Amino acid sequence: MSPLPGILKGLATTARTAMRPTHTAEYPDVAPDLPPRSRGVIALLEENCTSCMLCARECPDWCIYIDSHKETVPATTEGGRDRQRNVLDRFAIDFSLCMYCGICIEVCPFDALFWSPQFEYSEVDIRDLIHEKDRLGQWMATVPPPPALDERAAEPGEIAAATKPARGAGLVGGAGTAPGAGATGPGARMPRTVRPRPAGTGTRPPTPREPLTGTPESVPDDTPPAAGPPADGETR
Ligand code: SF4
Ligand code: SF4
Repeated sequence: MSPLPGILKGLATTARTAMRPTHTAEYPDVAPDLPPRSRGVIALLEENCTSCMLCARECPDWCIYIDSHKETVPATTEGGRDRQRNVLDRFAIDFSLCMYCGICIEVCPFDALFWSPQFEYSEVDIRDLIHEKDRLGQWMATVPPPPALDERAAEPGEIAAATKPARGAGLVGGAGTAPGAGATGPGARMPRTVRPRPAGTGTRPPTPREPLTGTPESVPDDTPPAAGPPADGETR
């Protein structure tokens, strides 16, 4: 079998790819352009951490170590009660065990953990991959800012609740009616028409009752007759 077809095929492949731009990464001379949500290392914002232990309990690798103690905070007002708060003594993550699942960051209810795209923290000694809270805090400087909100996204619930018109707003003459405050969407209520009142008739005074005259016997009795068995021949 002649080797010529194979040689020609190889030359054609070489000629086809020779003109394409290269994709060689020149790391470490050129830093890679990583996506903003890259999972490099976990950063700790210590001020937000309440030592609730939620992240340590949810970590599937058990590689988060937390130590804390309680501290009594004196009452700030006279007659008030002293309060207790947790003080973080140790917060460490063992990155030799971490599998970068992100569960700890997801479950933290106080936004104390963040992803940083930094990945250059390899060590010769594996024991040095345990990052204590000081080192975890230093990674906060490399956490990228959150992405801008999507203009077409639904309004956050907090903002919708804060801008919700007060009760009675939208009614003509109602409290909190703002000029131009439109209730034009689906489900908007029709404005109630308030009839103008003559001047000086703000509130209708109660109608005075006629004084009763005569003896108690002459006063007609409005009490309906008590229900009882019908008389013979009487129908109801
Ligand atoms: S990323 Fe996952 S494995 Fe790593 S510390 Fe957090 S919960 Fe544990
Ligand atoms: S980092 Fe978050 S989840 Fe973990 S102990 Fe601190 S507050 Fe709790």
